[in-house]
Amino acid sequence: MTQLEMARQGVLSPEMKEVAAKEGLEPERVLSGVADGSIVIPANVNHKGVEPCGIGAGLRTKVNANIGTSSDYGDIDTEMEKLRAAVSARSDTVMDLSTGGDISAIRRAVIGSTSLTVGTVPLYQAGIEAINRYGSIVALPVEHLFAVIQEQAEDGVDFMTVHCGVTQKATSRLRQSPRVTDVVSRGGAFTIGWMLHNDQENPLYEYFDRLLDIALKYDVTLSLGDGLRPGSLSDASDRPQIEELLTIGELVERSRAAGVQVMVEGPGHMPLDQIVANVQLEKSICKGAPFYVLGPLVTDIGAGYDHISAAIGGAIAAAYGADYLCYVTPSEHLSLPEPEDVREGVIATRLAAHAADIVKGVKGAREWDLKMSLARRNLDWQEQIRLALDPVKAAKGREQHGTSGSGCSMCGQYCAMELVAQYLGTSSTKC
Ligand code: SF4
Repeated sequence: MTQLEMARQGVLSPEMKEVAAKEGLEPERVLSGVADGSIVIPANVNHKGVEPCGIGAGLRTKVNANIGTSSDYGDIDTEMEKLRAAVSARSDTVMDLSTGGDISAIRRAVIGSTSLTVGTVPLYQAGIEAINRYGSIVALPVEHLFAVIQEQAEDGVDFMTVHCGVTQKATSRLRQSPRVTDVVSRGGAFTIGWMLHNDQENPLYEYFDRLLDIALKYDVTLSLGDGLRPGSLSDASDRPQIEELLTIGELVERSRAAGVQVMVEGPGHMPLDQIVANVQLEKSICKGAPFYVLGPLVTDIGAGYDHISAAIGGAIAAAYGADYLCYVTPSEHLSLPEPEDVREGVIATRLAAHAADIVKGVKGAREWDLKMSLARRNLDWQEQIRLALDPVKAAKGREQHGTSGSGCSMCGQYCAMELVAQYLGTSSTKC
């Protein structure tokens, strides 16, 4: 049985109990969230040793790190290094988006090396194999696509991004509504190319029941991808994006009816003032399905700093109900990330998630900040470094320039914290 089926029958699974323990919630609260689809626990029955990660309403906002080779760079060793960077920066999940080298071997190495939840986009492997075997992505046989999905499910992939909402109707909407950046999703581009060349419906939409059968068997959570997500501020919240979302909303209901866990992916590039409306729209159209946002990046000009642009958008999205943030690295739009980019991307995204959790009222979020503030008032440097989101960078910053005072070298001997404590007669040790 899937987590969803168990929850509907009132069966409290070990995974639900573990998620509840980690979140500091009553297990029944997690069970009811899984049962109504507002929470998913992606945990493939074949992923041995996976530490269950709950994603959805009432839970801590989760962070995903994308790793994976491209056709130009990367091999198993470099992807393992990126995986270690993501784990040490405390990403909640990873997605292996490999499109180069031995894709199956890399995925199996990732799944076998981590207890984190692992996601993939099966269409990438299917598309690359179609190029190698048949000369082009558009020559991909439908049977081959489903064979890859089956293979990845058997390997233990916990969740799969599937661009089922890119339909002929959405494609025709795209043609009628010119964009600045037509399609920026690789999965969306592969799918549209295949559909237009073959003059057929998207097989992931047409044979959605077949996809559900595989997902049901292995308890793979479907992450309904937004192949028509806006890739520039100019295209945000346009008709093709909303057309796709409407279809995704219907597929959420079909997934749940089949007992398959499902979440929904969202934009993309988006001006600040459209983010809240997009979150509300997803929650309404997709009946409270967990929302997994890819940024959103709040400006198109941040190359080199797009992790910051995404963190700004991610914090707003999550504060208003998005449940899961896909990281963006400093190398976004520029190149395949290095392990250090992975680390920075995860940290920036965790910062956004935590900022949102403070206003969501997630247990322990505000308390963490209070502890840091008290440590700051006490000039307790060891504790400040321990509590920092990135203790390694905090320690480095502290060591950069020493001071003769008990504060830091910013104000030197004239540390405001120390001076005011003296004048007010408060002792830091009383805190
Ligand atoms: S020296 Fe200035 S910046 Fe440093 S801890 Fe004291 S008040 Fe803060």
